[in-house]
Amino acid sequence: MYIVKSIDELNKKINKLKSSGKTIGYVPTMGYLHEGHLSLVRKARANNDIVVVSIFVNPKQFGENEDLDKYPSDFAKDSALCESESVDILFHPNALEMYPSSYNTYVETFGEMTNKLCGASREGHFRGVNTVLAKFFNIVKPNNAYFGQKDAQQVAVVKKMVKDLNYDINIVACPIVREESGLALSSRNAYLSEEEKREALVLNQSINYAKNMIESGETNVDRIKNQMKEIINKSKLADIDYIEIVNFDTLEQLDVVKGNVLIAIAVKIGNTRLIDNVSLNY
Ligand code: AMP
Repeated sequence: MYIVKSIDELNKKINKLKSSGKTIGYVPTMGYLHEGHLSLVRKARANNDIVVVSIFVNPKQFGENEDLDKYPSDFAKDSALCESESVDILFHPNALEMYPSSYNTYVETFGEMTNKLCGASREGHFRGVNTVLAKFFNIVKPNNAYFGQKDAQQVAVVKKMVKDLNYDINIVACPIVREESGLALSSRNAYLSEEEKREALVLNQSINYAKNMIESGETNVDRIKNQMKEIINKSKLADIDYIEIVNFDTLEQLDVVKGNVLIAIAVKIGNTRLIDNVSLNY
C-alpha cells in the first residue's frame, strides 16, 4: 500500500494510473476506521482496479463548539486495516496541505437540502463537506466514490453537488453497518461510556418503531414523530436535536408518508451527538 501526504505526489501517481486505463474507487473518511468504513472499502475493492482511501479530519466541516480538537484518531491502526483490505493508496494530507494559508474558495449547496436536519444544527457543515470533497474529487479523479447511508443527508448533498458541478463520478451509497445491539457504528461512539452506549439504543429503537408504524399503515408524519419522541425521551441522557421525516432524494418535509421516505434523527447522548436513519419506499 502506498501512503501519501502530498497532493503533488498523489496527482502524479493518479495521472499515471488513469492514463493506463485503470478505474479508481474512492472512499473519503475522517479515520478511526470501523466496520462501517470497511464495508465501503470492500465495495470499492470489488468494483475498481485501484482503491484510494483518504483519512483527513476536515476542519472546515466542524463548527466552533464541536469536537474537532478531540476527534479520535489512530493512524497506525487505520493504515493496518487499509493494508489488510488491500487498499492501493492511502491519502493522509495534513490541514495545511489541503488548505494553505492563502486558501479562499468554498463550494456551497443552497436551499432545502442543506438548511434542515444536520444543516440546521451544524451551520456551515455541508459547505465544509462539499468544499473538501470537491478538492478530493479533483485530486483523486475517481470513477466511483463510496459513501455510507448513515450520513443520509451527506449522500443527498454530494449527489446534488456532483450533478450541479458536472463531476463525472458515480456516487455509490452503502447500507448502514450496526453493532448487534442495533447501534449504528460511528467513530464518535468512542466517546460513549458503557451506560451512554446502552442509552444510545433509543435512536435505533425509535427508528424501528417508526418503521413498524408505517408498515402497519400509519401515514401521519406528526403521529409517527410523536411516538419516536416518546421513545427517545425515555432515556434520561437523551437530548433530541431533530426528528425528521422527509423525501429521500430532495429532503423536502412531508406531512404524509408517501414515496421514497427518509426518517432521520440526531440525538445527543450526554455530550455526544449521534445520528441515525432509515429509508422506506411507500
Ligand atoms: P466519517 O469517517 O465518519 O466521515 O465517515 C466516512 C464514510 O463512512 C462516510 O461516507 C460515512 O457515511 C461512512 N460510514 C460511517 N459510519 C458508517 C456506518 N455505520 N455504516 C456505513 N457507513 C458508514
